[in-house]
Amino acid sequence: MSDIIRLLPESIANQIAAGEVVQRPASAVKELLENSLDAGADKIQLFIRDAGTTFIQVKDNGKGMSETDARMCWERHATSKIKKADDLFKLTTFGFRGEALASIAAVSQVEMKSRREEDSLGTELKIEAGEVLHHEPINCPVGTTITVKNLFFNIPARRNFLKSTSIETRHIYDEFNRVALANPGIEFTFFINDNETLKLQKTDLQNRITDVLGKKGQGELLELHETTDILKITGFVGSPEYAKRIRGDQFLFANGRFIKEPYFNHAIQTAFQGLIPEDNFPYYVIFFEIEPSKIDVNVHPTKTEVKFEDSKAIYSILRSVIKKSLGSYTLTPQISDNQIFSFETSSLPESEVISKFNSPNVNSKYNPFSTDIQPNKRQDWGKLLEPFKKPESNFYDGGKKSDEIYPKPENQLFMLEEKLLFDGIFQIAGGYIICSKNNELILVNQQAASERVLYDQFINQFEHHNIAVQTLLFPRMVEFNAADFNLVYSLIDEIKYLGFDISSFGKNTFIINGVPAINDKADPQITLEGLIDNFRQNEQKLQLDKKENLARSMARNAAMSATGALTLMEMELLLSQLFQSPQPNFLPNGKPVFIKISQQGLSEMFGK
Ligand code: ADP
Ligand code: MG
Repeated sequence: MSDIIRLLPESIANQIAAGEVVQRPASAVKELLENSLDAGADKIQLFIRDAGTTFIQVKDNGKGMSETDARMCWERHATSKIKKADDLFKLTTFGFRGEALASIAAVSQVEMKSRREEDSLGTELKIEAGEVLHHEPINCPVGTTITVKNLFFNIPARRNFLKSTSIETRHIYDEFNRVALANPGIEFTFFINDNETLKLQKTDLQNRITDVLGKKGQGELLELHETTDILKITGFVGSPEYAKRIRGDQFLFANGRFIKEPYFNHAIQTAFQGLIPEDNFPYYVIFFEIEPSKIDVNVHPTKTEVKFEDSKAIYSILRSVIKKSLGSYTLTPQISDNQIFSFETSSLPESEVISKFNSPNVNSKYNPFSTDIQPNKRQDWGKLLEPFKKPESNFYDGGKKSDEIYPKPENQLFMLEEKLLFDGIFQIAGGYIICSKNNELILVNQQAASERVLYDQFINQFEHHNIAVQTLLFPRMVEFNAADFNLVYSLIDEIKYLGFDISSFGKNTFIINGVPAINDKADPQITLEGLIDNFRQNEQKLQLDKKENLARSMARNAAMSATGALTLMEMELLLSQLFQSPQPNFLPNGKPVFIKISQQGLSEMFGK
């Protein structure tokens, strides 16, 4: 039998390598941006169309390439950044594998124009699926422009694997934001479908953080600065008010490279312990500068994992640096509304500091079911309908005339078929209700029950377009970062149907004139932020349609703090609503709402 082993043709080898380097449009964006940084550019423009699937272009004013290099750079393992194995331990560039351009070219149609300062003519190249179709001198500015068209055009399986436009765009934002945060001294412009969505002027880190991530609530950015033998730590952490229920804006960079390192996240999280609720996540943009020989960036092709020689020491340095900055923040006398808190920093017990600064924006007592209904007066149930009957309330119905949109009675919310009777109800601390009906014992998770009921209501409202809007006395301006702004903008009609009277108001800003009456006690900005955080999480995990996702997100959001004490009447109402739900047993995500134990179950528990 003849020999059967052979070397793969270059084109197939490149396609296989591309699988690792270019997983989605965002990976190509990352590689191109990093190449521009490595080329010393101080002005970089990113253009994408259709979430990068049909068009990605990165234009820089970096050092450009010679005619030969312009051809060479598309070969696999072609790099100007390392020469010998030793160089791997002294990396000062993002790239070093020489794989990115070859991989991108293997799975798309690429065009490049590049010129060096010293050359009068530049070079233009066109490559398709790794094959050079065109290579000519051309007039062009100094720097490099690379255009990637129809990514994965020759690998349909990959193309079909891509997620929705909004998810892929989000991934691109993530990469762009990381690069922009780590390089405040560089001007970036980001165009989506030919619209300029973000222009970042050269600035300092603090301003770059607000330019990229948006101003958030009342929080402050606290500066970190520490130099030790092992590393230098700089950057900012958001004061405790910034913390969110969903892990969002957490950025850690090692020598300018974005890294994911749960161990260091943990160090930061523990530094915040006691200052923010357990399940909240701090906000930070932190940079390590460390001698390149002390880290190994070579563990993963897409390079967000990095190995550190002294990770234990770094853990404790990091934690104490953050504690220090938080300490000086929380103990600084605060002046607000002509009121001065001043206290001795040395004698204040830790617990007091904590309670004073324990996330003031979160109203942990808020309970969407609390009303002041008198017990046992049937007619008072009508009070629950009040927010929906108030004359100042509006009903958003996609812009129909007001007399057409007043809800028909059968569409009204909180419609209870009947109030259910229970043999007994009481609440135990921590947000559980125990009740009994038909000789069965039912143990209810209060928060889940609220979420279920709210979810049903939001779904109902979407179907009937009869959501009640509570008009705000003072309209609220809410500023988002560009990514969040775009997401909210793309969902604006659905968000209106949820009960927000919202419209865009200039750059990255919305004006909120009204909020869902069901949830009108909560801060609109926090509600909206929580809504989009939940939305995004659902979007990445599940394939939900927009409305389903928004109803779930809003219900989760509004029910979040529904763990407070309830009156008997409120419990009866909640349980009645729950047990009239089309599906009371489970939340839409499949988690149980209550546990039921029958008489037989009880006797079995006692071994009968
Ligand atoms: P790596 O970045 O790992 O070296 P790439 O495939 O990304 O590999 O790029 C190959 C080479 O092409 C780089 O080493 C660099 O010399 C050159 N190059 C790529 N992009 C640019 C750019 N925007 N400006 C100048 N040179 C570039
Ligand atoms: Mg590169």
